[in-house]
Amino acid sequence: MATPLHIVLMGAPGAGKSTQARLLKARYPLQVLSTGQLLREEAARQTALGLLAEAYLARGALLPDEVMVALITERLLRLPPEQGFLLDGFPRTLPQAEALQQLSEKLQRPLTAVIALALSEQEAVRRLGGRRMCEGLGDPFPVHIEDRASVDACLRLGGRLVQRPDDQPEVILERLRTYEAETRPLLEFYEQRGLLFRISAEGSPEQVHQAIVAVLEARLRPQA
Ligand code: ADP
Repeated sequence: MATPLHIVLMGAPGAGKSTQARLLKARYPLQVLSTGQLLREEAARQTALGLLAEAYLARGALLPDEVMVALITERLLRLPPEQGFLLDGFPRTLPQAEALQQLSEKLQRPLTAVIALALSEQEAVRRLGGRRMCEGLGDPFPVHIEDRASVDACLRLGGRLVQRPDDQPEVILERLRTYEAETRPLLEFYEQRGLLFRISAEGSPEQVHQAIVAVLEARLRPQA
């Protein structure tokens, strides 16, 4: 049986985490857990968690660590042994990263790699400002308004273009600020553990994907 992959995908808002998560899911047997997406679904269904999350999402603020750790713990406990995981949007704070270390030890699922997608702030703001979600065709996926071909494809297939409420300019800036303050310190946490791999996110989705695959394949190869 192939070794399941246990990946953490990091990067500022706009770096393309959800796009890369989708490409990796098509290639490897793994479950993608995108915390932002999970929270938006809970909010849409008006569950208890969703009602709590709404206020945080609207401000671009982080939910309490305990809530997020409980959510991820519950999902990872249910994962079939042969399936790996890819975390997109978790951990986002040091306490979350520490909780994940403990959990992965307990479940005997050591992290394969932490992939950090690097992007300039200017490009992040440009991408997020023009981002729309194509909804109504399975899992929502991002398209950029300047990319006419994918906009047309979404509409032609019967999808709708929806702007995430937190992709408004003031909230974008708050999310970038929160990333710098709360999440960037995690890079050092993982660097110290030899798990961090930085990849430029400026290239095309396919180029970035290939760079990630190269890291993962090297990590899977038995050490000489
Ligand atoms: P992005 O990375 O593009 O900002 P996400 O879709 O990953 O967007 O997350 C959207 C929002 O969901 C965050 O701004 C935050 O409010 C909440 N959120 C997601 N993951 C976490 C987490 N691990 N801890 C706390 N809040 C989170």
